[in-house]
Amino acid sequence: MVLRIRHKSKWTLKEAMKITVSVIKADVGGVGGHTKPSDGLLDTVRKTVENSKDLLIDYYIGYCGDDVHIVMSHTKGVDNQQIHELAWKAFEAGTQTAKQEGLYGAGQDLLKDSFSGNVKGMGPGVAELEFEERPNEAFTVFAADKTEPGAFNYPFYRMFVDAISNTGLIVNKSLAKGVKFNVMDVEEGEIAELQLWEDKPTLEAALMYPGRFVVASIYTRDNEPIVSASTDRLHNIAGTYVGKDDPICIVRTQKNFPATEEAGSAFNNPHYVAGNTRGSHHMPLMPVKLNSAATINYCIPIVEALVFSMHDGKLIGPFDGFSTPDWDHIREIATKRALAMRSQGFIHPATLVPSELEYAEGYKDRINILKSKMKSLPDSPNAGKPKGKYEDPD
Ligand code: MG
Ligand code: MG
Repeated sequence: MVLRIRHKSKWTLKEAMKITVSVIKADVGGVGGHTKPSDGLLDTVRKTVENSKDLLIDYYIGYCGDDVHIVMSHTKGVDNQQIHELAWKAFEAGTQTAKQEGLYGAGQDLLKDSFSGNVKGMGPGVAELEFEERPNEAFTVFAADKTEPGAFNYPFYRMFVDAISNTGLIVNKSLAKGVKFNVMDVEEGEIAELQLWEDKPTLEAALMYPGRFVVASIYTRDNEPIVSASTDRLHNIAGTYVGKDDPICIVRTQKNFPATEEAGSAFNNPHYVAGNTRGSHHMPLMPVKLNSAATINYCIPIVEALVFSMHDGKLIGPFDGFSTPDWDHIREIATKRALAMRSQGFIHPATLVPSELEYAEGYKDRINILKSKMKSLPDSPNAGKPKGKYEDPD
């Protein structure tokens, strides 16, 4: 694509550059629990990426709770082996430091022994977009901790479907046409393309249960990429609880896409998500400042906004999207909601349903004891039958 660029009142033609933004994140260890990476761990990750920086145009490294994210710009496209291997090696090196320092959960998100071409399905979360860079490219990375990929269902709905949240859906020609959602069934490993506005109620049915259906990507009707989100569920990969599949996403903003403030404000009503302590509760998603530790107040789920500009692949920023004074008020709302939910302790819906509990084995043990103490009622269809063990409900 050729762009007309206005420079000092003259129009010139310039070939638009195809840039890939790759965001890869992993939890490879936390200080004293699932709180935040150590300075040593971050230094190791940074040095490893720096040693391979020839592959990249630019990069930024930060963290959200115990998850380290590497934001990279390059020209190698999505799913590139060299880029994925670079991130994998950085997290492997970080794991070594975490082990030397005795950090908690050292290497917890690296679920395979060796790299095999792509970090997807190996533990780290990946969000990637390749696009023709606009003259003033703008995007925001939303990074979350102590929750699951479906935590973004509600904010994506507010950004792209709900005009009460986003007036841009009425007055912006591209958004008013409706966008295309790719929704993944993370249990079955299937994906469906749903188009607005004709598929609106079907999309709503999918977004209703964030533990199963999650948004993988969003495009304009003209196939311009807007959103990419990580979708892996770690317990589906490892087969057992290994930590929360804390999600990350890239949202391009401005012009044909939501304004940066339309994207950010989708997080101003802290909604309840699955996660927090032992990955087994419902708590509100609290917007926090960049490089925040997870709170030890029962691990309220958190989300950060890394607001970037980019030109020729060079990153400017991030501006800390949730740092302005108004977000202190939102944090207070989130804290109040969190305490309200915690006030009912372990009673559902403060806790998740049995099939979503990350400590399902411990729960099963307990319920099996309960079952062993059960006696059939005389008119029960199970009267006289041998007792089975507790099974997860489908
Ligand atoms: Mg952790
Ligand atoms: Mg985490």
